[in-house]
Amino acid sequence: MNYFSTRGAGPVSLHDALRQGIADDGGLYLPEYWPNFSLDDFVPGASIQTVAETLLRPFFAGSPLAPELGAILDETFRFPIPEQALPGANASMLELFHGPTAAFKDVGAGFLAACLSRLEGDADSPLCILVATSGDTGGAVAAAFDQKPGMRVVVLFPAGRVSERQEKQLCCWGDNVLSLKVRGSFDDCQALVKAALADDDLQQRYRFSSANSINIGRLLPQATYYAAASLSHFRARGTCPGFVIPTGNLGNALACVLVRKMGLPVGPIMLATNANRSIPDYFASLEWQPRPSIATLASAMDVGDPSNMERLRHVLGDAEVLREELAVVSVSDVDIRKEIKRSYSEFGLSVCPHTATALHAWRTMDARTRESAHWILVATAHAAKFETIVEPITGSTIPLPAELADILSRPSSSILIEPTRDAFANALGRNF
Ligand SMILES: *Cc1c(COP(=O)(O)O)cnc(C)c1O
Repeated sequence: MNYFSTRGAGPVSLHDALRQGIADDGGLYLPEYWPNFSLDDFVPGASIQTVAETLLRPFFAGSPLAPELGAILDETFRFPIPEQALPGANASMLELFHGPTAAFKDVGAGFLAACLSRLEGDADSPLCILVATSGDTGGAVAAAFDQKPGMRVVVLFPAGRVSERQEKQLCCWGDNVLSLKVRGSFDDCQALVKAALADDDLQQRYRFSSANSINIGRLLPQATYYAAASLSHFRARGTCPGFVIPTGNLGNALACVLVRKMGLPVGPIMLATNANRSIPDYFASLEWQPRPSIATLASAMDVGDPSNMERLRHVLGDAEVLREELAVVSVSDVDIRKEIKRSYSEFGLSVCPHTATALHAWRTMDARTRESAHWILVATAHAAKFETIVEPITGSTIPLPAELADILSRPSSSILIEPTRDAFANALGRNF
């Protein structure tokens, strides 16, 4: 399988697409074609790992990683991805938050680390992974690459815009992880990474790669849980489940779109955004107008210019098509708070602010839409990661998952920088 940029560059191998992250022409990699699957391709009752192996096999065709796919998936799925029914409702929660840093990004990061360390690990000239994060990505990537020989990670996160526990997860790793706290927004962090990846001077000194949700190696594994969940529903009920997906940079939701495109039994897809309205406004006005992000309670979704929009438009089309294929709802902070309270009183569930956007979107669907499908609400992070928001609303203490407790007990360090190329280059030079 070859990969092409959304802007035309290519073909490149899977190896190069994983290693480069972003294409030379500034576009995002996509496979040259989308394989088509039918129900018979998947064994009934198969584990997510087995489903993943079938689903991802074509994307590894011809790659030196192909014989390693099983081992890569073993490394990726070291934690369960359970689905919990919501009592009394035709809906369930898909819990993607049982990994080391308690958010869905552990899936993509674990997979990418398993691939890249096999391809590129080099003690004499380490591969340096750059990752801009609005909170959860950086921790997941750092956890995935922590102590991996021949690999380094630079995490860039916006000062004051991540929760205390998230910050801890970004700054508590070994010598091969450098944590940079940037005086700016997530978009500034992302711009620094994009600039560094295109900077000839820095390229001479470092072997860079990126691990944002722009990397195809993050997108592919995210497709697997939608495939597994939709297959098991379809087999049990004979209908295609709908998905409501908390959305920021559009990586998680795009994976669901791709799974439906590849022929799996995925029904309606609804994106839930926070008060960052670039996507809903695009669907309404038909004009793509990215804008600076604004801070909300669902901070990992504070994205004003979702990178994966370029891929989504390439795969499906522009707004006229997108709004036929997808629904989108923007959820305010006021409604996020209300939803956290209501989920607790109604279902006894403490939900994180991101997950709350999906619950709210589901709750406020018109009755016909809500009853048209079994809805799977995607739970993207554990509430314990955002306890300073959730606990005061529910009045109840959230028990810490064991892995999170371990991370929080470690010492941490970071370097504060201005959002400029030179400040970034200096910090890098002093440490790596
Ligand atoms: C990253 C993140 C999101 C948004 O996912 P995208 O792929 O960027 O759309 C939602 N919820 C949580 C908890 C996240 O960490």
